[in-house]
Amino acid sequence: MKKDDCIFCRIAAGEISSDTVYEDDDFRVILDLNPGSRGHMLIIPKEHYQDIYELSDECGMKLMAVAKKMAVAAKKALKADGINLVQNNEEAAGQSVPHFHMHVIPRYKDEAERIVCWNPKSSDPDEQAAIAEAIRSELG
Ligand code: 5GP
Ligand code: ZN
Repeated sequence: MKKDDCIFCRIAAGEISSDTVYEDDDFRVILDLNPGSRGHMLIIPKEHYQDIYELSDECGMKLMAVAKKMAVAAKKALKADGINLVQNNEEAAGQSVPHFHMHVIPRYKDEAERIVCWNPKSSDPDEQAAIAEAIRSELG
């Protein structure tokens, strides 16, 4: 279902213009308006899903095939040295547009910045075991 007040629904439907890289029945892939790197793309499902919790398994599986297609094309076309796939869910994770989308971000060896990063910390084996058990038990 399309949501009339959702900007990505409207972009995906072609009601708002975008630099479209690829389109099929299920997705539109566009250049990000504020790119983190040259060729930063967004894969937008035409169906409205707010985030990964709502995303259908079928759409998620199709999306990964599109992500691969875009990664291979960007690597060749832009001579990228690497590709990050990034997908944010909820404000705490940096989601600013509440319509599921995946970032495909070409990376270049000469970039000064590292835009996808976290600070690795050492882990405690007991705590790790408890965390793994908590997640496993939720899966049932
Ligand atoms: P998020 O932070 O939700 O993971 O990513 C949203 C992305 O959408 C941002 O990188 C932002 O630059 C991009 N964006 C927001 N509005 C528009 C728009 O109207 N057109 C395009 N092409 N990109 C947009
Ligand atoms: Zn939407």
